[in-house]
Amino acid sequence: MSLKKESKHVPARSCAVCRVKSDKNDLIRLVKSPEGKIVIDISGKLQGRGAYICPDSECVASAKKTGILERELKAKVDEDFWQALDEYIKHHDENKILKIRSILGLARRAGVLLIGSERIKNENSLEKKILVILANDSSDGIKKFAASYNDLLTLDITIKELSEVAGLRDSVQILGLPLKSGFAKKILGLTNKN
Ligand SMILES: [Zn+2]
Repeated sequence: MSLKKESKHVPARSCAVCRVKSDKNDLIRLVKSPEGKIVIDISGKLQGRGAYICPDSECVASAKKTGILERELKAKVDEDFWQALDEYIKHHDENKILKIRSILGLARRAGVLLIGSERIKNENSLEKKILVILANDSSDGIKKFAASYNDLLTLDITIKELSEVAGLRDSVQILGLPLKSGFAKKILGLTNKN
């Protein structure tokens, strides 16, 4: 996996708002149109003065408040732009969940997915080197159990959906992946950059 990453070099860019550097492909490119308005460059190939922003509602809210994009691009925005940006981010989040679901499905078929708190407990009770994954409606007891793990991810999906991912008819409130597995690394890679 690391070899693949090294050979596929993606240039880094900074978010105009928070200044954090990310892979170009993980940011949203904005461009000043010939009409002097800021537009979302979905293809990433539009000509013109450009800036990047994280696909993150906090960065968008801050941009809205400070007017930093207008200054940076010397361009204007209208209400449509903010609405389009909000929608873009919403889709981005949904795509992220779809990707995570497909990784979990692969992990299950590979036999490394730990289903339920008992399985997680038995796997590695001392070191807790497990990524634990919750549903948005997992019970308080399960949340408390999960809180003792450093790597904890609550997905914006229900117990029912989480169970589907695990390929179960019975409901499961928590899933686990050993941190050393490539699957856990992939999921953490997706979530770190938001
Ligand atoms: Zn940002």
